[in-house]
Amino acid sequence: MFDPKEIRKEFPTLNQEVYGKPLIYFDNGATSQKPKVVIDKIQQYYLKDNSNIHRGVHYLSQLATEQYEEARKTIQQYINAETNAQVLFTKGTTDSINLVAFSFGELLNEGDEIIISAMEHHSNIVPWQMLCERKKCVLKVIPINQQGELLIDAYKKLLSDKTKLVSVTHISNTLGTINPIKEIIRLAHSKGAKVLIDGAQSIQHLKIDVQDLDCDFFAFSGHKVFGPTGVGILYGKKELLDAMPPYQGGGDMIEKVSFELTTYNELPHKFEAGTPHIAGGIALGTAFEFLKTLDLDAISKYERELQEYAQEKIEAIEGARIIGKSQNKTSVVSFVIDSIHPFDIGTLLDKQGIAVRTGHHCTQPIMDFYNIPGTIRASFAFYNTFEEVDVFIKALNRSISMLK
Ligand SMILES: *Cc1c(COP(=O)(O)O)cnc(C)c1O
Repeated sequence: MFDPKEIRKEFPTLNQEVYGKPLIYFDNGATSQKPKVVIDKIQQYYLKDNSNIHRGVHYLSQLATEQYEEARKTIQQYINAETNAQVLFTKGTTDSINLVAFSFGELLNEGDEIIISAMEHHSNIVPWQMLCERKKCVLKVIPINQQGELLIDAYKKLLSDKTKLVSVTHISNTLGTINPIKEIIRLAHSKGAKVLIDGAQSIQHLKIDVQDLDCDFFAFSGHKVFGPTGVGILYGKKELLDAMPPYQGGGDMIEKVSFELTTYNELPHKFEAGTPHIAGGIALGTAFEFLKTLDLDAISKYERELQEYAQEKIEAIEGARIIGKSQNKTSVVSFVIDSIHPFDIGTLLDKQGIAVRTGHHCTQPIMDFYNIPGTIRASFAFYNTFEEVDVFIKALNRSISMLK
């Protein structure tokens, strides 16, 4: 059985005080804490194994290469990708989306359409705006309702033969909404459009099977799934990745270079120019090994209960308003308090040892939609507890009474 109090022990950062109070870390939407096995792996790499990959004939280089490729395989199996070659190491979600926007974007023509949604993170908005500028494509946006849910009927109307790509988030980092991505993917495919899923907020909370989803691309960041910063993944369907031109040129991504003609390496190397974050990739594999030992269904259920519990308690506070009230949500509670700026609440919570995030959470269009400057966001992981929520609610009430 899954026991959050036992799991917590694996995360050294959680066991500390700030301002003399036990740390309560409710900023998992921004980044997760790391289990000891991941930290140890990074240390081991630099203490013993450090070497460049895919190049040397020597022992350490082969060791580093094996570990890096082993990590890729672990991640491939975890997300059930067809082959290793379809699991590309990137710098993170932002980098993965930019790769697709540039490279898949090269295959698009003037007048082609791309659909995103009103609840996207800036990193799933701006690369498409840049592409539309570059290629004279047209960007369309699926609207949301007051609950913070996508309007699927409006989406159906936006889809047409001109739609080449739909790029939506699986779970909103601001609203917590879990989008019906299987239906979104099916509808897009019925029009011949491809689909990118921004999995930055879902890979750590839900079981992901890219073949079952039938998505064309799936992007996520290592640091939100208990791995290091500076490394992430882009999964893609093979025929698409094969058809797409390289994103960046350099070492490792070539087959042969001459001044007359350069040919490119096969997948996944075609999209992995230059020396990557080797320790990061290896340690991300370790993060997934760690996740594999946990019961993800039990975790998903627990995180959802934690969010519902917190949401209920916040809603009971006078003047509080929850932003994002879908029935189908998880792990994130965003809210505002009447006449108090989110930043002031966040500052007072911090002094009580509680880490939340305040602001627009890289989703300014959502703030515009609700006509608010920002929200206070508590975002949970499986190592958070109901007791922490109770402490947080007390501290929140105290902060409000100080500011009123
Ligand atoms: C965090 C996040 C991103 C961006 O991830 P980076 O790690 O900053 O590249 C994109 N989309 C969503 C939904 C996110 O939560």
